[in-house]
Amino acid sequence: MAEAGSFADRVKQQADIVRVVGEYVRLKKSGQNYTGLCPFHGEKTPSFAVHPVKQIFHCFGCGKGGDVFSFVMEMEKCQFPEAVRIVAEKCGIALPKPKERSPEERKENQQRAVLIEMHREAQTFFVKQLETTGEGRAARAYLEDRGLDKEVITRFGIGYAPSGGDVLLRQLKGKYAEKLLVESGLVSRDQNGARLFDRFRRRITFPIANESGKIVAFGCRALGDDQPKYLNSPETPIYSKSNVLYHLDRAKDALRRQDFAVLVEGYMDAIAVARAGISNVVASCGTSLAEPQIKLLGRFTKRVIVNYDPDSAGLAAAERSISLLLEQDFEVKVLALPAIGDSPTGASKKADPDLFIREKGAEAYVKALKESPPYVDYLIARARQMDLTTGEGKLRALNYLMPYVQKIPNGLLRSEWATRISQQLRIDEPVLRAALSKAAVERRSEVKTRPELVAGKAGKPAERRLIRMLAEAEDFKRELAQQLKQGRLYQGLETEKIFAALIVAGLADEPMPATEIGAMLEERDRRVFFEILFEETNEGTWEEAESCIEALRKRQVEQELAQVQREIESNPAGPAMRDLLVRKQELLKRRAAG
Ligand SMILES: [Zn+2]
Repeated sequence: MAEAGSFADRVKQQADIVRVVGEYVRLKKSGQNYTGLCPFHGEKTPSFAVHPVKQIFHCFGCGKGGDVFSFVMEMEKCQFPEAVRIVAEKCGIALPKPKERSPEERKENQQRAVLIEMHREAQTFFVKQLETTGEGRAARAYLEDRGLDKEVITRFGIGYAPSGGDVLLRQLKGKYAEKLLVESGLVSRDQNGARLFDRFRRRITFPIANESGKIVAFGCRALGDDQPKYLNSPETPIYSKSNVLYHLDRAKDALRRQDFAVLVEGYMDAIAVARAGISNVVASCGTSLAEPQIKLLGRFTKRVIVNYDPDSAGLAAAERSISLLLEQDFEVKVLALPAIGDSPTGASKKADPDLFIREKGAEAYVKALKESPPYVDYLIARARQMDLTTGEGKLRALNYLMPYVQKIPNGLLRSEWATRISQQLRIDEPVLRAALSKAAVERRSEVKTRPELVAGKAGKPAERRLIRMLAEAEDFKRELAQQLKQGRLYQGLETEKIFAALIVAGLADEPMPATEIGAMLEERDRRVFFEILFEETNEGTWEEAESCIEALRKRQVEQELAQVQREIESNPAGPAMRDLLVRKQELLKRRAAG
């Protein structure tokens, strides 16, 4: 695919597959390879491997494998040219002149660049408004009242959108076409389409950045009682709500390092938690987490503590998010913060992370975070709040829990939960188990749709060693290919087609990378080939190759002997029988000599 000397070839030479894959999959060094959980099929124990030297990946579970480009194509669901571009960008390799792209693509890219530039300008504008204007001073007072001092305001780029109605518009109008202004979402058109005005007015602004730290949208909170309280950017060519997690650009390193994320609802919560010293926090910036957001997060960690608002919308959102996270194989805990300020009158405030940290301090929050229970405990506690005095009520509680329990992949764990649920909800255990085993059956049908696992190893050790040496022994693979070809030693082997492809490659003038050889093979053979490439072995020697060739020779003799014997037993006419018997003697001698 990557022609020698082409841009793709150059990218492939320079790109580090471990680094690129590492942006999507958490990889751990294991021997000479890196391993992790396969992003292409659900799994709990890693069977996905990346080879840093060969620059290939392979999943021993589902069998997907290839080079850095095929990985990105599969991951991003894109075509080859796009994958090359993505890899180049990730590795800081300058792209060829844009003229190589299609005109539409070029136009889109230009438009995106302009929209990002517009957001950068808007950000500068909002910050300046907060700092220097009279209106901004009132906004600052409000922020200070909520515990956001100057340091935090600067750190998170908080700004202010003035009430005028067209202050930002006037700033941008001279430089950008009307159409682009509207497309940016910073400016709206009135109902009869005649007049433009600022979308955000009299609001505190929070810049929302994409994964790479570029501001692509704003989240804005009303200063007074204006409705709606929160108003965000609409979907634009550079911003899609379900593809962005607030604070991810700053949380990336901490997420990888600490291997868990704190998930909150809004940017105020994220800011409060980050200020409390927990930098691995992200906000969904919407009532519920969307699947693309979960996949995005999964590239950094598969462990999440969900800390949503305790109001009913927040609780529902938390439950939906738990479900989605479990589907994506996340390990989920839930932090439900205790109410604050039990006054003598019994009035207490339900605490979101922001409020809790302001009232109780960062340390109390960190402590609560550490103690947050696994999601099932949390859900049982929720179910216990239902009316459990009647059979109907218990059934409702059980039905509430069942979909979650069903998602526990481990049978033993599921059984443990069943016991706990029956105790906690005082439900007859046999009744519960019956419901559970029904759920288990449904699970099994899910499992069936998974890619089949490779059963056993194809090829005997000698074959596997020879394949490996044919692919990699630079010193003698040509000689090896010739010998195998001459003696037709690989014919009739289970791995025959792999040998055939490797011999073609071994005798070719240009070196052929493993992925190209793989491309010559059927899927089943390609999988076997990649598995062999990932085996941890010593570098082969010519002596070892010779002894493997000898093993194949013996096999060949045995096979021919068996064939001759079968023909003898079919009792052919005189001369043919004589020839066969002679041949048998020869073969027996050769076998004895070996
Ligand atoms: Zn896989």
